[in-house]
Amino acid sequence: MQTNFTPEQLADPGIARANQILRSCVHCGFCTATCPTYQVLGDELDSPRGRIYLIKDMLEAGRPADEKTVKHIDRCLSCLACMTTCPSGVHYMHLVDHARAHIEKTYRRPPWPGRSRTSG
Ligand code: SF4
Ligand code: SF4
Repeated sequence: MQTNFTPEQLADPGIARANQILRSCVHCGFCTATCPTYQVLGDELDSPRGRIYLIKDMLEAGRPADEKTVKHIDRCLSCLACMTTCPSGVHYMHLVDHARAHIEKTYRRPPWPGRSRTSG
């Protein structure tokens, strides 16, 4: 997968590692066949490949996590079935851990599930 991080972003070792992992993904989609959330929900964004795209966009833009990205990353079970089927050795575990750390740093969750962030 092509990435477009700036040299300044790549000076951060966490981003440099994420960049290596993102570049090893060849979009083949083999991982979708073994991902339980994709099998149940049928949404590309709930597949490993879809989540990898969301993580790439979030990190490249250097922006805070948004609600859509958080929703699909939260749904990942971290079962790592995708890693066992990936022919390119994409280290999804490291990538999703990095994404979750970014989410925790930049996203303010609602007080409890189902409650709007603006309702108090
Ligand atoms: S199987 Fe691996 S290389 Fe193929 S889309 Fe999934 S993560 Fe990327
Ligand atoms: S860790 Fe499991 S739930 Fe998450 S993307 Fe990989 S296969 Fe799907």
